[in-house]
Amino acid sequence: MSSKTTASTSKDHIPGVANIVAIASGKGGVGKSTTAVNLAVAMAQTGARVGLLDADIYGPSIPRMMGLAGYKPEIDHEAKTIQPLENYGVKTISIGYLVEENQAMIWRGPMVASALNQLLTDVAWGELDYLFVDMPPGTGDAQLTLTQKVPVTGAVLVTTPQDIALLDCRKGIDMFRKARVPALGIVENMSQFICPHCGKSSAIFAEGGAERLSQEYKTEVLAHIPLDIKIREKADEGTPIVAAFPDSEQAAHYKRLAGEV
Ligand code: ADP
Repeated sequence: MSSKTTASTSKDHIPGVANIVAIASGKGGVGKSTTAVNLAVAMAQTGARVGLLDADIYGPSIPRMMGLAGYKPEIDHEAKTIQPLENYGVKTISIGYLVEENQAMIWRGPMVASALNQLLTDVAWGELDYLFVDMPPGTGDAQLTLTQKVPVTGAVLVTTPQDIALLDCRKGIDMFRKARVPALGIVENMSQFICPHCGKSSAIFAEGGAERLSQEYKTEVLAHIPLDIKIREKADEGTPIVAAFPDSEQAAHYKRLAGEV
């Protein structure tokens, strides 16, 4: 991360955390968590101290993607602190570590807000240069809680090039604007499909949408990440592609993104 850093408002700072960066999307399934995990690992590989908070209370996927499913964080009941778990050089916390993996979350809004509040205030992160927050899709309670509670340095919006995803991404940018959180830029995920057989690429979700959106909102397209089977396989295995194959061309996209945010 470069120039656009260092939060500065009078909200409650998370002790030791220099920058809080939200990874958001208007719509589910566009690859927000995959992007968050690989970006966090790529950033840690640069030597930065990195945390990843899974704010997707209803559908936490960070434990699995970080290879930490089934692990439980240590809780100090006296000090009222939770120790984050660590893998691939990234400290993480998720509601998924605190409940069973296939347990359905049927909480109402205020409970979501209070669970997220707790994750924001009670985790003993230590010193972090960047805390990435994997937001739930949309513009709901978690977004409000995050932006009202802590000083968010900026938001990275993840979208596919498809019209419907772009439409929802607009709402996401608008919401962060209203909350005075700057959009650091847009990640166009599943930009091109790379055929695993012939290596040819095709724009199955259309082309150029992220550029149009970035012009409209005067922000940047930070990365175009292809739809690539290896990215999906490694995410499912719990070894993000950046950790599994740090020198691959797939990992290079996330490393460049880490330099851009
Ligand atoms: P979201 O967080 O937006 O709901 P996920 O990160 O969970 O989306 O991704 C949805 C699915 O798409 C997952 O199976 C993930 O492995 C896959 N996926 C995400 N990005 C890519 C990509 N660039 N290439 C291939 N598969 C991807």
